[in-house]
Amino acid sequence: MLHLEIVTPDRLFLSEEIEMVIVSGIEGDLAILKDRTPITTPLRIGRVRIFQNGEEREAAVVDGYISALDNKVTIATDAAEWPDEIDVERAKAAKERAERRLANKPDGLDIARAEAALKRAINRLDLKNKY
Ligand code: ATP
Repeated sequence: MLHLEIVTPDRLFLSEEIEMVIVSGIEGDLAILKDRTPITTPLRIGRVRIFQNGEEREAAVVDGYISALDNKVTIATDAAEWPDEIDVERAKAAKERAERRLANKPDGLDIARAEAALKRAINRLDLKNKY
């Protein structure tokens, strides 16, 4: 078994024994299993898939990093939500706001920031749609 902790600035999101975790790394999906070589790598806006007792759970996360050492895995991320915690109306509003900014391109628009907001909203809506 592996011990997985997921921490955000607000809370200890998860601290459990698990079999495998799959994350969205900056270079693609990364599966972490027991007894692997130590690793620390950045995460993208995406999903964390947690496998435990033959079941899978999924959470949305925003950036951060994953670190695995001695069968302890730590994910530190800016935000994490289970599907049932995602407020669809809020995510839709965030998506529309970002889309409007990117379409109108007002002076001084921080394009990277608007694109990241759009990605966060789409990631939340996609996860919510799946469950
Ligand atoms: P918004 O513009 O609606 O605040 P955001 O993408 O800027 O969205 P984040 O900065 O990623 O929000 O997250 C800030 C906090 O709000 C985090 O704790 C995150 O879990 C929570 N959060 C953001 N959007 C949602 C949502 N749609 N449903 C539930 N929690 C959310």
